[in-house]
Amino acid sequence: MQGAAQPNLTDRYTLPRRNMVERLREHYKIRDERVLEAMMRIHRHLFVPEAIESQAYKDNALPIAFDQTISQPFIVARMTELLELDGTEKVLEIGAGSGYQTAILCELARKVFAIERIDGLAREAEQRLRYLGYRNFSLKSGDGTNGWDAYQPYDAMLVAAGGPEIPVPLVRQLKPGGRMIIPVGTDQRSQELIRVTRTEKGYTQENFGPCSFVPLIGEHGWIK
Ligand code: SAM
Repeated sequence: MQGAAQPNLTDRYTLPRRNMVERLREHYKIRDERVLEAMMRIHRHLFVPEAIESQAYKDNALPIAFDQTISQPFIVARMTELLELDGTEKVLEIGAGSGYQTAILCELARKVFAIERIDGLAREAEQRLRYLGYRNFSLKSGDGTNGWDAYQPYDAMLVAAGGPEIPVPLVRQLKPGGRMIIPVGTDQRSQELIRVTRTEKGYTQENFGPCSFVPLIGEHGWIK
């Protein structure tokens, strides 16, 4: 574990969290035990508005501030699993939102660089992650479709908002052999989950089926 998640004590959401993880394992067939363990350790209810914290372990996305969402646990688990992290990676995350996915990446990779377009969300997420003890991340606000040039190349990238196409700057900042998970679709609210693997000459793509994310807004995404 690279980060510093909550101490391994039981809390009032231990049972719902365990049920969430069992559903991920049994129903959704998530197979990466490291991902399941991280999702058992991280207290998802601390990443949603207090008024709805009792819903944090349900099988759906939830609203967070600024009209954005924290993704459904299944999609978080699936995207993370598809990155095939072993703990040595430098990861770029686009669309940090509440910081929940960032926390998972901090637990499973060496270093995480995260970008969130909405300044207020970025500041809250950073504070929350620091409060929870994570130190192996940097988070900034801005347009993530341009990547984060200063720290490239990255071993893995996770884009948590749906764009009309694969942003070229992101592909350029991936290492050969590096993987990017990104929802892509010509409709602003429905996409296909794509895994891009960088090769020496270009990249390959695999399609993991339909999904629905908030729009990726930026220079290489949707125009607001
Ligand atoms: N994974 C997040 C979590 O755990 O809370 C939820 C991500 S939410 C589905 C998508 C986020 O992408 C939103 O917070 C939105 O503001 C952000 N976003 C959209 N376009 C962006 C861009 N160009 N750069 C960075 N963030 C962007």
